[in-house]
Amino acid sequence: MLHPIFKTDVFQLKPNTFNFKSCLPELIQHQLEGQIDTGKMMQQLLQKVQSEGILVLNSAEVLSVSAEVSSVKIQLPNLEFTAQHTFVATNAFAKDLLDVEVTPARNQVLITQPIHNLQLKGCFHLDEGYLYFRNIHNRILLGGARNLAPETETTTDFKLTKLIQTKLESLLKEVILPDQDVEITQRWSGILGVGQQKKPMVKSVSNHLHCAFRLGGMGIAIGSQVGRDLAYLIK
Ligand SMILES: Cc1cc2nc3c(=O)[nH]c(=O)nc-3n(C[C@H](O)[C@H](O)[C@H](O)COP(=O)(O)OP(=O)(O)OC[C@H]3O[C@@H](n4cnc5c(N)ncnc54)[C@H](O)[C@@H]3O)c2cc1C
Repeated sequence: MLHPIFKTDVFQLKPNTFNFKSCLPELIQHQLEGQIDTGKMMQQLLQKVQSEGILVLNSAEVLSVSAEVSSVKIQLPNLEFTAQHTFVATNAFAKDLLDVEVTPARNQVLITQPIHNLQLKGCFHLDEGYLYFRNIHNRILLGGARNLAPETETTTDFKLTKLIQTKLESLLKEVILPDQDVEITQRWSGILGVGQQKKPMVKSVSNHLHCAFRLGGMGIAIGSQVGRDLAYLIK
């Protein structure tokens, strides 16, 4: 299916040279999948917008947006202002501001200490993509397992749960780095915006109010294109 697009065999069977335990002897490798340093990505984005004179207001919660005839009124806790055009790009949180359909899906993650001589390089997915791990330099970042508790994880609450953290730890200790004592240095969660369709929603709500949300857990890969599509709504 992907061959006509990439003109090569995207998937290949590879022996389990990483010595993952409790795995089949072969892994399916996606030859063209890449990794991105999302910290650097965000720094670059901030530098770009600031170099173009765009003001970024951090820690400013928008309480409401309301479309007027020729502008949009934006309400912050201590400030109200109007803008000619407003773009709501808060993904899973879009329905706090607009009458739209999007379901939050919490994803919990953890990261290890730096591991001397770490051989593992790349992004790995298992359990239909619900579990994933990758190296970040010489650490392992792993996350997912929200399918273990779909009801609890359908939330915008940035918390951790014992059930999922234990699952992630056992994946680390029993499959990825068996027989190795590795310290976990940080744990956190993030919120995806999902829906019945895997496609993001990009639309105008009125002549001056526009939105892009429901990035389906793919926003790092497709976010810049979705942003472009959103901007083009008023071109
Ligand atoms: C653990 C995890 C792993 C992921 N892995 C991948 C991956 O491998 N590949 C991939 O492509 N994608 C991945 N994603 C998905 C990707 O991070 C998201 O799709 C992407 O961040 C969506 O970008 P966004 O800017 O639309 O929304 P977000 O990044 O969610 O940003 C929305 C922003 O809006 C702010 N906000 C919300 N409400 C308000 C309000 N009322 N007022 C002001 N601000 C508000 C929030 O604070 C937040 O900063 C992952 C996500 C998680 C959580």
